[in-house]
Amino acid sequence: MDKEALKILLNYKRISSKTYSFYQITAEEFEIAKKAGLMFDNIVLSHNQAIDWLFEAKSKVDKEHVTALFLASLSSNRLEWRSGLPAYVLSSHFPSHQYSKTDENNSFYCPICGDMLIDDPQEIDLSFYNYTRFTSGGEMVIDDRFEVSRLAFCLDQHSRLSKVAPNQDDITIFKNIIDTILQSGEDDTPNDLEKSIASKKLFKSNHWQRRFLLEILSFCNIIESPRATGYTSKFIPPNKRYRDDHVSEWHYPIRLWRGQDGINKAALNYWFGEYL
Ligand SMILES: [Zn+2]
Repeated sequence: MDKEALKILLNYKRISSKTYSFYQITAEEFEIAKKAGLMFDNIVLSHNQAIDWLFEAKSKVDKEHVTALFLASLSSNRLEWRSGLPAYVLSSHFPSHQYSKTDENNSFYCPICGDMLIDDPQEIDLSFYNYTRFTSGGEMVIDDRFEVSRLAFCLDQHSRLSKVAPNQDDITIFKNIIDTILQSGEDDTPNDLEKSIASKKLFKSNHWQRRFLLEILSFCNIIESPRATGYTSKFIPPNKRYRDDHVSEWHYPIRLWRGQDGINKAALNYWFGEYL
């Protein structure tokens, strides 16, 4: 990893959510990060082009590649290794389709997948996508704003990563996370669970990184409530995801989980059985 290029990428953060402004990167810095494969020229994509990209990227990644790197991210804190799994799960049963605007089909998002890039091809800042890969472990995929290009980019980048086998520390951390989930009190919420994991200092992480990690396990149906399932066996577009009336910062489906739901052992076995 080119440390200078990585530093430039990590400085490329959004400093205002209102104006969408970024720390300025000089042209010279951009070229350094671009040469290292960490920053990119913006691209212009339509919904249908993003779907073609997604299916191409998906064909280059398999379950073993994303689960091994997800586990290997735990002791190494390589968050970009963690980001492949949520994109892979969400795309597992993603419907192959095209969008065309008609009078009946006149909405702000695609009725099949919920993608919001439906009006015209739009310019996409892939460098910012990559910034979130390296800093959150999956935020842009988990976020409620659904864009096919985010999944495609994550899988495309993941396909370029070498396979890394998780070590014993990774497995121990993961087992401790699972034990902590199982030890939850009946009424514990996702917030309580995140606090339990934080108090045990199971792995290097901040609040948001722990939260996104739990959200990823929920995408994989491992943290699952009977009221909301993950995406292992079906794609659920944003407008079809069940929402309760409670205000929660957590996304679907973990927002509906309570401690009494425990974990879905079949899902745990499906995704990580070979390591447990
Ligand atoms: Zn669509």
